[in-house]
Amino acid sequence: MATSSDPNDLNLQNLKVEESTTVKTEEAGSTTTEKTAKPKKDKPKQDKPKQDKPKQDKPKQEKPKQEKVQAVAEAPVEELDFNRTPEEVEKALNEWVKKPLLANQKKPDEKILPKPDARNILITSALPYVNNVPHLGNLIGSLLSADVFARYCRLRNYNTLYICGTDEYGTATETKALEEKCTPRQICDKYYDIHTKIYKWFQLDFDYFGRTSTEKQTQISQDIFWKLHKRDLVFKDIVEQLYCDTCQRFLADRYVAGTCPDPACKYNDARGDQCDKCGKLVNAIELVEPKCQICRNTPQIKKSDHLFLDLPKLQPEVRSWFDKSCKTGHWTSTASSITEAWLNEGLKPRCITRDLKWGTQVPLEGYTNKVFYVWFDAPIGYLSITANYTDNWEQWWKQPDKVELFQFMAKDNVPFHAVIFPACLLGSQDNFTVVNHLSGIDYLNYEDAKFSKSRGTGVFGDHAQDTEIPSDIWRFYLLYIRPETTDSVFSWADLMSKNNSELLNNLGNFINRAIPFCETKYAGKVGDASKLETPLDRLFVAQITNELNAYLEAMEKTRLRDGLKCVLRMSRYGNKFLQMKEPWKKCKGSDADQADAEMSIALALNLVYLLSLVLQPFMPTTSNEIREQLNMKESNYGLDNAFHCYLPAGHTVGKAQPLFKRVETALVEQYRARFGGQKK
Ligand SMILES: [Zn+2]
Ligand SMILES: [Zn+2]
Repeated sequence: MATSSDPNDLNLQNLKVEESTTVKTEEAGSTTTEKTAKPKKDKPKQDKPKQDKPKQDKPKQEKPKQEKVQAVAEAPVEELDFNRTPEEVEKALNEWVKKPLLANQKKPDEKILPKPDARNILITSALPYVNNVPHLGNLIGSLLSADVFARYCRLRNYNTLYICGTDEYGTATETKALEEKCTPRQICDKYYDIHTKIYKWFQLDFDYFGRTSTEKQTQISQDIFWKLHKRDLVFKDIVEQLYCDTCQRFLADRYVAGTCPDPACKYNDARGDQCDKCGKLVNAIELVEPKCQICRNTPQIKKSDHLFLDLPKLQPEVRSWFDKSCKTGHWTSTASSITEAWLNEGLKPRCITRDLKWGTQVPLEGYTNKVFYVWFDAPIGYLSITANYTDNWEQWWKQPDKVELFQFMAKDNVPFHAVIFPACLLGSQDNFTVVNHLSGIDYLNYEDAKFSKSRGTGVFGDHAQDTEIPSDIWRFYLLYIRPETTDSVFSWADLMSKNNSELLNNLGNFINRAIPFCETKYAGKVGDASKLETPLDRLFVAQITNELNAYLEAMEKTRLRDGLKCVLRMSRYGNKFLQMKEPWKKCKGSDADQADAEMSIALALNLVYLLSLVLQPFMPTTSNEIREQLNMKESNYGLDNAFHCYLPAGHTVGKAQPLFKRVETALVEQYRARFGGQKK
């Protein structure tokens, strides 16, 4: 963005690598820095002169006004000053020459367990429901966010365990099995494979991806149940439930819909457990005009014996735990305000059993023909999945003073993770590890609508791999628009614009300036950058160190979107630095000028290496490619608090290759039509 509009760019036109990266000269040859399009589809070439301004040449756009405003707001003219204090410069230069941190290497098949002297980080992402194919909103809401954070923690040498798995019990699976004429187990096996393939494609690097329908799940859930029961936190009551005569079954909450009972809301499509509009939990029998979602008939109320968790008794314990946890940990404001509201309203008893077969059996006499209601035992899945990973799972889950637990989810999952699950763990008095940092974020919408499988709106995990957009670009864009503080929108036009401006013209431009210059002018040999004399070189190191610190601070607090913005700012500083130093001119000048040019390129290449580190959590494939091009594939530096001189003097870089490919208007128009769903 900044580079293509800068008049200084004209200076670069005699530099081969630069020619193709600026928008204006694109037709001259997009071979050096842009990947050539895959021969998959015929794409119109060069007939879109205004492709960087997609907002103006699309009459079909539904809300042009809004998108225009958004584009202006997101493209601020950023002041890039090198303005560090002398003290900061001195400090940064001290670190610059020190050896960087070496990354811990894990032995193959070694089980990750908490270590006495390490920072032990346990990470979970909300368990995806097995027979829903996850959409992009689900991905960024929990799994992808947790993956980025886990990769970051590993890069920092934190002793990290990232676990997740499919949530398999419940009526939805039972019903699906009926539909597909097979057993619930077969349904789960089938969909478990679908999930694992999708996550593999998105490069989600779980330490273990398990499932909830296991023997360990039964053992641990029943154990927690008995502990709650012994403390008198479970009581019996008769429940009125919706029963459908046509379907001859009690209707699980997700199979009933009706009008929200809250007179202030009255949303006409509230689910049986929760209203999507006002977010309140709903008791299915309180729905106004309920309808069976399987056959559309009106269900009737029937009575059945059930068990309840006495949450009011646990309220003081949960309250004092929460007050402490959100003060000492990193909770998103969305997460803490939802929790606060729940506690202020006062906890109510909740039924923990259901008249179903596919689930964890209730062990109490008289109730053994029932199963636990999924909200009670699904979060216990985190424990049982860890137990399936290692027999020493209790070292993670029963050592709250040695383990920090980070949980990632979208806001609809916050009440279960911030109130009800902690209540169960605290109530069982078994020294459980309870969430320390809760990243509950807002919703991602799709082109101003909701994702909907039935309406065919939005991109689902299995679709993404059928596009020409590589997995790294999906990751980049989803993180770029991560709904960290408010709901956000996935937009194809915006994806194109961010790819072309941030990745191609900023990050890719910088990397593909530095490496080829070194190749052509210095036969690939990196100059000695250990001693920095000129003020701008010294300021450069301090300025990048400053950006790195901002990155670390954001990442530590799970503000991943902010972290990504810091990465992009680092490469903008890199571009700015090269524009100020003009090595392409100086390399033809006096001896002093030539030395300065060599130093500029050496510094730029070290920033390229740092970029491969800070980018790794977001774009792992790109990070590898950068290291390969630097011929630093074998390096195993981790990330510490400073910018270091990573490349030794005399190191030979590898071959420069374009990292990113331009996304064309025609392509996003095609995808927008394909994934737009049936518009009313
Ligand atoms: Zn409502
Ligand atoms: Zn029915």
